[in-house]
Amino acid sequence: MNLISISKSKVKILLFFVMLIVVPFNAQNKKFTLVIDAGHGGHDPGAKRGNSLEKDINLKTSLYFGQLVEDNFDDVNVVYTRKTDKYLTLQERADIVNNNHADLFVCIHTNAAKAASAYGTETYTLGLAKSKGNLDVAMRENSVILLEDDYKSKYKGFDPSSTESYIMFEFMQDKYIDKSIDLASSIQNQFTKYANRSDRGVRQAGFWVLLKSACPSVLIELGFVSNPAEEKYLTSESGQKEMATSIYNAFVNFKRNHDKKSGKLTNPQNYVEIQKQEKPLVEFETQTETETESTEVSERPEEDVKTVLSQDVKPIFKLQLFASKSKLKANAPEFKGLKELEYYIENDLYKYTIGFETDYEKIVQLKKDNVGKFPEAFIVAFLGNKKLSAKEALKIK
Ligand SMILES: [Zn+2]
Repeated sequence: MNLISISKSKVKILLFFVMLIVVPFNAQNKKFTLVIDAGHGGHDPGAKRGNSLEKDINLKTSLYFGQLVEDNFDDVNVVYTRKTDKYLTLQERADIVNNNHADLFVCIHTNAAKAASAYGTETYTLGLAKSKGNLDVAMRENSVILLEDDYKSKYKGFDPSSTESYIMFEFMQDKYIDKSIDLASSIQNQFTKYANRSDRGVRQAGFWVLLKSACPSVLIELGFVSNPAEEKYLTSESGQKEMATSIYNAFVNFKRNHDKKSGKLTNPQNYVEIQKQEKPLVEFETQTETETESTEVSERPEEDVKTVLSQDVKPIFKLQLFASKSKLKANAPEFKGLKELEYYIENDLYKYTIGFETDYEKIVQLKKDNVGKFPEAFIVAFLGNKKLSAKEALKIK
C-alpha cells in the first residue's frame, strides 16, 4: 500500500510538469477518435446458430474492447455506432465515422459457413476480393442493405448480391490502405498470440461500410458461429474478453505508430499491451489434471495443447514484485520501465511478476537488478499452471 501512496504523490508532481508542457500545445493535441462498430443489431441478427446470434457476440466484444481503450487512454475519444441492440444501416454507420472525423474505424463481425468444420479468424481491409470466399463474406455482410426499402436509390445502384457491383473496388484508390493493413496484421497476430485462435489471415474485399469511411478501417470476423467449438468460445464472456483484449493490444500498436508519425509528445508507458494472464491458480487446483486437459483439447486447436505440454517439462522462474488487492492499470506508475510484466491471481490478490526464465541464475540476476526498487521481491516458479517455491522447482531441475 505504501508503494501506491508514494507513487500517487509522484504522479501529481509529474502531472504538474506535464501540464506546463502540454497546455500551450493543446490545440495541436486533438484527441484521437476511434469509432467501434458492432455489426448488425435490432431486427438484423447477422449470422446465427441456434440461439447464438452474431449481433450479440459483436456487441459484447465491441463494448469490452471500447472499455479497455477508455480505461487506458485519456487521449482517445471512443465512439460506438451502437451500445445496445439497435438496428443501423451501413450508411448510418459510415456517417458516424465521418461526422466524428474519426482517426480509426474498427468493425466487429462474426463469420458463418455452410460447413460446420470451418473455423478461424479473419481481418479484412477494403479492396478487390481475390477469392470467391472473400467475396462471399463481403456479399453476406453487405446484404443488410437489402433490408432497406429504397436501397437502390440510397446506394446509387449498388446491388450487394450482384458480383458486377463489386468491380468498382478494382478501380478505387484507398489512401489509408497501408495503415489499415498494418492494423489488420497486428490484430491477426494478437488473435493467435493472445487468444490462441486459428489465423485465416488478412484479406481484402468490397465492404460498403469501409468504402464510405474516410479513415483507416478494418472489418474483423471473430470466428465462425457455425462451428460448435467457436460458437461456445465466442458466446462465452472469457472468449469475448480475450478477443477484445487482442484487438486492444493491436490498437495499442496502431496508436503508438500514429503518435510517432504525428510527432506527439508521449510516454512509452501509455502503450502497454495487456499480457496474457496466468490462469487463476485456485481454479486449477480444484480441478483434476484430466478435466483441465479435456477442456483445452475440445476448445482449442492443437498448438495450445503443445504449449501446455512444453510448459510442463521445465519450471519457469519469475520474480514476484508485489501483490495488490485490486487490478492495477497497465500504465500504473509502479510498472514504469518494467518489461515482461505479468500477473496471476491467488487468494483474491493480483500478484505481479517480471521475468520468464528456465535458467535460475538469470532470475537471480533480475532480482539483484531490481532490489533497489523492489527490495521485497522474491522468486517464484511455475510448472505448467502450478505454482512452486523456488526450492521445489530447483529439485525438479
Ligand atoms: Zn456480420
